[in-house]
Amino acid sequence: MDRAAEMDQLNAEVRACTRCPLYQGTTHGVPGEGPLDARIMLVGEAPGQREDQQGRPFVGPSGQWLNELLGMAGLKRDDVYITNIVKHRPPNNRDPQPDEIAACQVYLERQLAIIDPEIVITLGRHSMGWFCGPGLKITQVHGRARRAKDRVIVTMYHPAAALHNPDLKDAMIDDFSKLPRLMAVLAEERVRAQAPADEPPPSQLSLF
Ligand code: URA
Repeated sequence: MDRAAEMDQLNAEVRACTRCPLYQGTTHGVPGEGPLDARIMLVGEAPGQREDQQGRPFVGPSGQWLNELLGMAGLKRDDVYITNIVKHRPPNNRDPQPDEIAACQVYLERQLAIIDPEIVITLGRHSMGWFCGPGLKITQVHGRARRAKDRVIVTMYHPAAALHNPDLKDAMIDDFSKLPRLMAVLAEERVRAQAPADEPPPSQLSLF
């Protein structure tokens, strides 16, 4: 099966999913969207009300702010693949529970396999925890890049955090503004990795 067919099948499975009780009372499952060859995947927490209504990720107020942040990084929404840790809206937008995250992770794993992004941007602590493990504090590691799960993971605040606390806006703008530099470093690494063996080794990732 080709990538597009695999993604179509995955999307259909998410929309019909009953692997955990979250689907009850929702309008749509929200698989994700974006180009299948995206270098960057953004992973949020869970659909909210607007996302549940439309079946698309980040289409509400936090999505508008996310689009602005992407613009500040020189990216368009159409350049990136966007999804969430859980694919159905939790009641009253409560946090997704560990058993719900565990039930849903097969979909995220398949999305990662299909898209194979070079960079994953985690939005908020649930996504950060899934990719980087427990113990990190978002206040300490926002805007940083690290290698985990065979990819470069950039841990960002969740966009909704700035809607609740506008003081965080500047930090988020700074964090997203670092992305072009990260992409340039990774592009340089790729070029050097293909160079003859007597060339110097690839530079270390230096966004910390
Ligand atoms: N918040 C999220 O984490 N994901 C969405 O899709 C919308 C809001």
